[in-house]
Amino acid sequence: MNLLLLGPQGSGKGTQAQRISQLYGVPHVSTGDMFRAAIADGSPLGDRVGPILAAGELVPDELTVELIRERLGRDDARSGFVLDGFPRTLGQAAALDASLSEIERALDRVLFFDVDDAVATERLLGRARDEGRSDDTREVIARRLAVYHEQTEPLVHRYHEQGLLARIPAERSVDEVFAEIRAALGEPA
Ligand code: AMP
Repeated sequence: MNLLLLGPQGSGKGTQAQRISQLYGVPHVSTGDMFRAAIADGSPLGDRVGPILAAGELVPDELTVELIRERLGRDDARSGFVLDGFPRTLGQAAALDASLSEIERALDRVLFFDVDDAVATERLLGRARDEGRSDDTREVIARRLAVYHEQTEPLVHRYHEQGLLARIPAERSVDEVFAEIRAALGEPA
């Protein structure tokens, strides 16, 4: 199963991606997690993307696309994947299509996590408090949501046109949202 999760930060994508990964037996691929790991390692990639993440801006497409191309080429992604946080721009979406067709694969489904900005903001502020992410200020959160609306939201239309989109109302509890996802995807084989 080749799956993509689309939605703003604070929509619960990451939590649901982990559950999907466990139930359907496909790896959870998160570009945000990969960038955070690079920053924690102090690698050259980490040094480069650290200030970009802190400001709530997007990492340039060429860096992000290369990271994903390498990741999807690994053995564990042969059974499929659940992509979380990529693509975030129309350019990344086109690059993803090209990479997948190179390996004769295609997306099966795109889940769109629909959540209001106010709900996403409250969740992100709560997470910043609980996890001591003091750089996740209200300002940075607002910037991330603005970037989402400008750069990423057009993908909802793109995947809808391709007949791949399933809308998931994402303001309910984690269990309720996961039940919606299972209904949309069907039970694992
Ligand atoms: P996330 O954990 O998916 O919310 O990502 C955290 C941050 O990593 C984002 O705010 C961006 O700065 C960066 N990032 C993650 N994925 C991408 C992507 N596909 N394109 C550009 N930047 C990304």
